[in-house]
Amino acid sequence: MIQVTKTYLPDIKKYMSYVEKIYESGRLTNGGQFVEELQSRLAAYLGVKNLLLMTNGTLALQIAYRVLGLKGDVLTTPFSFVATTSSLVWEGLNPVFADIDPETMNIDPKQLEERITQNTTAIVVTHVFGNPCELDEINRIARKYGLRVIYDAAHAFDVKYGNQSVLNFGDVSMVSFHSTKLFHSIEGGALVFRDDAMYERAKRVINFGIDDSQNIQELGINAKMNEFQAAMGLCVLDEMETIKASRALRYRKYVQSLRHIAGVFLQKWNKNSSQNYNYFPIVFESEETMLRVLEQLNALQIYPRRYFYPSLDLIPYAQGDRPMPISRDIAGRILCLPLYHSLEKSTQDIIIQTVREQVLSIKRAVY
Ligand SMILES: *Cc1c(COP(=O)(O)O)cnc(C)c1O
Repeated sequence: MIQVTKTYLPDIKKYMSYVEKIYESGRLTNGGQFVEELQSRLAAYLGVKNLLLMTNGTLALQIAYRVLGLKGDVLTTPFSFVATTSSLVWEGLNPVFADIDPETMNIDPKQLEERITQNTTAIVVTHVFGNPCELDEINRIARKYGLRVIYDAAHAFDVKYGNQSVLNFGDVSMVSFHSTKLFHSIEGGALVFRDDAMYERAKRVINFGIDDSQNIQELGINAKMNEFQAAMGLCVLDEMETIKASRALRYRKYVQSLRHIAGVFLQKWNKNSSQNYNYFPIVFESEETMLRVLEQLNALQIYPRRYFYPSLDLIPYAQGDRPMPISRDIAGRILCLPLYHSLEKSTQDIIIQTVREQVLSIKRAVY
């Protein structure tokens, strides 16, 4: 069975050597050596400062909203994983959607600006499939209206904008280390803060609000990463260059084989930035074609995913005051094809062949 992704598992002996060290130290969490080590190695690898590891990406988003003191209405994208919206609602904030650009799949800054009101306090948007948003334009809007910017960069591990990490933009960026993501620590995530004081505060907040001198300074929660997670992260980080190179090969093969097929649309990538080969989304001319392709692939035990579906303006607890037609349209026609380090050439050939045949056969039926 071929899924949309396959988690990279490091050599088990290597992981066990870390586990042995955790046993020897007797410290499984709370300031253990491996969380410290992963934190500093990741900051160096990504080229960021103020990186704080957490137990998962969703809690990281929630903590970002708390530390920035968000209130009221938050402008956000309807085209993302549900956690972008659910984390806002969970924190008592009101998500207000603005529609996306159908080619980049990211928030459309024009529509974003039109939705700003007196009650808007922040912008929470996703670099969809790792593709950086229009950072300069969003920055301009945020300054003009005095809004905070939080990037859901769950997919944007190691993406560069110009010559620096995309995580350096906005007030805070969140990256996820869930096992389905490019880099993983089983479960996990991190926040990257522009502001030093907020970073220091977040360190307390993820540990019940307790400071280094054991004083309870403020309201907090438990969002710490543990040593077993960090050990996995350290093992995977050692292999990142290999993982990225093998994904890049497969990614390019998809692009070369599919981009000239009429009726198949690929994501338009931000031209100032690098790619990380995390996902391979393709959009079909109609939902009908997409479902045909999906059905044919499933018959071959190949399971692409309908990322992202449905458009988040359709989920019951977050329905806004107006529909988001572009997001709904794309959500109805998109599939993410299997892409991972060990995807077999023969499997990829079958996937490409099936997509091509189905798209062409529907075209023939129409004309
Ligand atoms: C995976 C993901 C999250 C949540 O991250 P977790 O680490 O799984 O909690 C949030 N936003 C997006 C866009 C994601 O893909």
